[in-house]
Amino acid sequence: MIFSVDLNGLQFYKYKTQASKTFGRVKEKVDCVVIGAGVVGIAIARELALKGREVLVLESAPTFGTGTSSRNSEVIHAGIYYPLNSLKALLCLRGRELLYKYCSQNDVPHKQIGKLIVSTRPSDIPKLNDLMKRGTQNGVDGLRMLEGYEAMKMEPELQCVKALLSPASGIVDSHSLMLSLVGEAENHRTVFSYNTTVVGGHLEGNCMHLYISESKDLGNWNGRSSLNPELTLIPKFVVNSAGLSAPALAKRFDGLNTDAIPPVYYARGFYFTLANTRVAPFKRLIYPIPEDGGLGVHVTLGLDGLVKFGPNVEWIDGIDDISSFLNKFDYSVNASHAEMFYPEIRKYYPSLRDGSLEPGYAGIRPKLSGPGQSSADFVIQGEETHGVPGLVNLLGIESPGLTSSMAIAEYVATRFLR
Ligand SMILES: Cc1cc2nc3c(=O)[nH]c(=O)nc-3n(C[C@H](O)[C@H](O)[C@H](O)COP(=O)(O)OP(=O)(O)OC[C@H]3O[C@@H](n4cnc5c(N)ncnc54)[C@H](O)[C@@H]3O)c2cc1C
Repeated sequence: MIFSVDLNGLQFYKYKTQASKTFGRVKEKVDCVVIGAGVVGIAIARELALKGREVLVLESAPTFGTGTSSRNSEVIHAGIYYPLNSLKALLCLRGRELLYKYCSQNDVPHKQIGKLIVSTRPSDIPKLNDLMKRGTQNGVDGLRMLEGYEAMKMEPELQCVKALLSPASGIVDSHSLMLSLVGEAENHRTVFSYNTTVVGGHLEGNCMHLYISESKDLGNWNGRSSLNPELTLIPKFVVNSAGLSAPALAKRFDGLNTDAIPPVYYARGFYFTLANTRVAPFKRLIYPIPEDGGLGVHVTLGLDGLVKFGPNVEWIDGIDDISSFLNKFDYSVNASHAEMFYPEIRKYYPSLRDGSLEPGYAGIRPKLSGPGQSSADFVIQGEETHGVPGLVNLLGIESPGLTSSMAIAEYVATRFLR
């Protein structure tokens, strides 16, 4: 068993590749494999490890949390936006509860600062009323509709005609959260193997076989010759938590019913930061009415005092599978996009000064619904859907995936682990 080898993940992998040169492709039986060390994969690894399982996390990047998990608003969502009884609603509410508790108990920086969703014109008030109704049905505590003057008294820089106050919303330092979860998982014998990419697999009898390559070999791959993975793992339980590439990876598992994999759409979002600000203009998160594909260009306050505006929605085409496994998406932020941000932000923050926005960072939403379609739910599927025993696919884990991460872990372990 690999877990009796006292090596960290990378060394383990090198040990295996050396062995493969002598003996051909190495096959190794393992207990649980989690593909992807984003916040969701890490939370799942920790959960499985706490349940006494031997866990190997395979991550294509040199460290954890370099994908969407470090390219988001770091907001702990209350659970307002999502349809009643959807996975997003259930897992967001449960995840928020678990997250606040975990952060408090493990000194992970976070703050329950509350949020105002604002309508800046009377014609949007019915949408705000709908959000209030939906949030209340979902069981979100403390929601309160405010008149414009009440909200503007609480936040003097704000301009609005009505606002929905959500006291349960907050912010979290996502890197500290992941670091804490990784530490706990490792303390329970989880092995993280970085620079290690899963490129496909097949079903043999009832057993899943995963093909593993070293990421640097894939980086040099010409895209034409056949891939020759060095290692095959035969796990009892696999969680495909590969974020943006989870659907593409699932389709590379021979024996899986590919009809079960929904089409994926990518929606990039840019963030701009407020330059030269000693005092943040707002104490709470400020969100406009949601737009097609996202929650609208909102104000997020970092725990470090940084004021961030974003993300917008820019639908982009996918990239080839291997580039997506290696996270070669375009995350560059074009300074000229600021011109689109000023008018959006000034709808609720009219005194935003010209020239005060600086390019921040970008993230990409792994969406299961395209432009103009109503937002799709998270998809968490097991054998009953795709036909492969012991495999769980996590698809479309966009917002509120950070908030829901610990609840997704609980759900996967409770529902699928044998
Ligand atoms: C712009 C934006 C704003 C958001 N804001 C919020 C928010 O405020 N609050 C909130 O709750 N949620 C938010 N989210 C959602 C949240 O960030 C995600 O749901 C969450 O980070 C997803 O985590 P993950 O682990 O599923 O994916 P990721 O973090 O993308 O992790 C997947 C990992 O898999 C690895 N990988 C990929 N392919 C392979 C392979 N073949 N082999 C091995 N490893 C592989 C990748 O390198 C990556 O590290 C936001 C998302 C975006 C895009």
